[in-house]
Amino acid sequence: MHVYGSVVDNETRCTHYHTEKDIIAIKFACCNRYYPCYKCHEEHAQHPIKRWPKEQFDTFAILCGACQTELTIHQYMDSSQCPHCHAPFNDRCELHYPIYFEMEGTE
Ligand SMILES: [Zn+2]
Ligand SMILES: [Zn+2]
Ligand SMILES: [Zn+2]
Repeated sequence: MHVYGSVVDNETRCTHYHTEKDIIAIKFACCNRYYPCYKCHEEHAQHPIKRWPKEQFDTFAILCGACQTELTIHQYMDSSQCPHCHAPFNDRCELHYPIYFEMEGTE
Protein backbone atom coordinates (compact mmCIF):
# COMPACT_ATOMS: atom_id res chain seq x y z
CA MET A 1 0.00 0.00 0.00
CA HIS A 2 1.57 3.30 -0.98
CA VAL A 3 1.37 6.08 1.59
CA TYR A 4 1.75 9.61 0.21
CA GLY A 5 2.93 12.71 2.04
CA SER A 6 5.91 13.54 4.26
CA VAL A 7 6.42 9.98 5.44
CA VAL A 8 9.47 9.38 7.63
CA ASP A 9 9.41 5.61 8.16
CA ASN A 10 7.67 2.46 6.98
CA GLU A 11 5.05 2.53 9.76
CA THR A 12 3.33 5.63 8.33
CA ARG A 13 4.83 8.17 10.74
CA CYS A 14 5.30 11.59 9.15
CA THR A 15 7.11 14.84 9.82
CA HIS A 16 4.00 16.12 11.66
CA TYR A 17 3.08 13.12 13.81
CA HIS A 18 5.78 10.67 14.75
CA THR A 19 5.34 9.39 18.28
CA GLU A 20 5.49 5.69 19.12
CA LYS A 21 1.72 5.42 18.62
CA ASP A 22 1.36 7.33 15.38
CA ILE A 23 1.07 4.27 13.20
CA ILE A 24 -1.95 4.74 11.03
CA ALA A 25 -2.55 6.30 7.65
CA ILE A 26 -5.93 7.48 6.44
CA LYS A 27 -7.30 7.08 2.96
CA PHE A 28 -8.91 10.35 1.92
CA ALA A 29 -12.33 10.21 0.31
CA CYS A 30 -11.36 12.92 -2.20
CA CYS A 31 -8.45 11.12 -3.85
CA ASN A 32 -8.50 7.56 -2.52
CA ARG A 33 -4.89 7.94 -1.44
CA TYR A 34 -3.39 7.12 1.91
CA TYR A 35 -1.76 9.97 3.83
CA PRO A 36 -0.47 9.83 7.44
CA CYS A 37 -2.34 13.01 8.40
CA TYR A 38 -4.33 15.97 7.12
CA LYS A 39 -1.24 18.19 7.11
CA CYS A 40 0.46 15.81 4.71
CA HIS A 41 -2.63 15.94 2.52
CA GLU A 42 -2.64 19.73 2.70
CA GLU A 43 1.00 19.97 1.64
CA HIS A 44 0.98 17.32 -1.07
CA ALA A 45 -2.52 17.21 -2.57
CA GLN A 46 -3.68 20.16 -4.63
CA HIS A 47 -7.30 20.03 -3.50
CA PRO A 48 -9.41 20.41 -0.34
CA ILE A 49 -10.20 17.41 1.87
CA LYS A 50 -13.43 15.56 1.26
CA ARG A 51 -14.59 13.81 4.43
CA TRP A 52 -16.02 10.29 4.63
CA PRO A 53 -19.81 10.39 4.97
CA LYS A 54 -21.26 8.37 7.84
CA GLU A 55 -22.91 5.83 5.55
CA GLN A 56 -19.47 4.88 4.20
CA PHE A 57 -17.82 4.15 7.54
CA ASP A 58 -17.62 0.46 6.60
CA THR A 59 -15.06 1.37 3.93
CA PHE A 60 -11.53 0.08 4.40
CA ALA A 61 -9.87 3.47 4.78
CA ILE A 62 -7.41 3.06 7.65
CA LEU A 63 -4.00 1.47 7.28
CA CYS A 64 -2.20 0.09 10.33
CA GLY A 65 1.45 0.97 9.77
CA ALA A 66 2.63 -1.75 12.14
CA CYS A 67 1.11 -4.71 10.27
CA GLN A 68 -0.05 -3.06 7.00
CA THR A 69 -3.62 -4.30 7.50
CA GLU A 70 -6.50 -2.18 6.24
CA LEU A 71 -9.28 -1.46 8.71
CA THR A 72 -12.71 0.00 8.21
CA ILE A 73 -13.44 3.40 9.70
CA HIS A 74 -15.83 1.70 12.17
CA GLN A 75 -13.19 -0.81 13.25
CA TYR A 76 -10.73 2.02 13.80
CA MET A 77 -13.13 4.18 15.79
CA ASP A 78 -14.22 1.27 17.96
CA SER A 79 -10.75 0.26 19.02
CA SER A 80 -7.81 1.83 20.83
CA GLN A 81 -5.46 -0.68 19.26
CA CYS A 82 -5.10 -2.55 16.00
CA PRO A 83 -7.55 -5.49 16.05
CA HIS A 84 -5.04 -7.46 13.98
CA CYS A 85 -1.58 -6.87 15.54
CA HIS A 86 -2.71 -5.14 18.77
CA ALA A 87 -0.37 -2.21 18.36
CA PRO A 88 -1.80 0.69 20.36
CA PHE A 89 -3.19 3.68 18.46
CA ASN A 90 -2.74 7.29 19.49
CA ASP A 91 -6.00 8.20 21.25
CA ARG A 92 -5.34 11.87 20.56
CA CYS A 93 -6.20 11.23 16.92
CA GLU A 94 -9.80 11.24 18.05
CA LEU A 95 -9.59 15.04 18.28
CA HIS A 96 -9.06 15.08 14.53
CA TYR A 97 -11.93 12.79 13.52
CA PRO A 98 -14.04 15.73 12.29
CA ILE A 99 -11.33 16.56 9.76
CA TYR A 100 -11.54 13.13 8.16
CA PHE A 101 -15.02 11.87 8.96
CA GLU A 102 -18.45 13.41 9.00
CA MET A 103 -19.38 13.31 12.67
CA GLU A 104 -22.73 14.00 14.26
CA GLY A 105 -22.92 17.37 15.96
CA THR A 106 -19.72 18.73 14.46
CA GLU A 107 -21.14 20.33 11.34
ZN1 LIG B 1 -7.42 14.19 -1.40
ZN1 LIG C 1 1.78 14.42 8.21
ZN1 LIG D 1 -1.84 -3.68 12.96
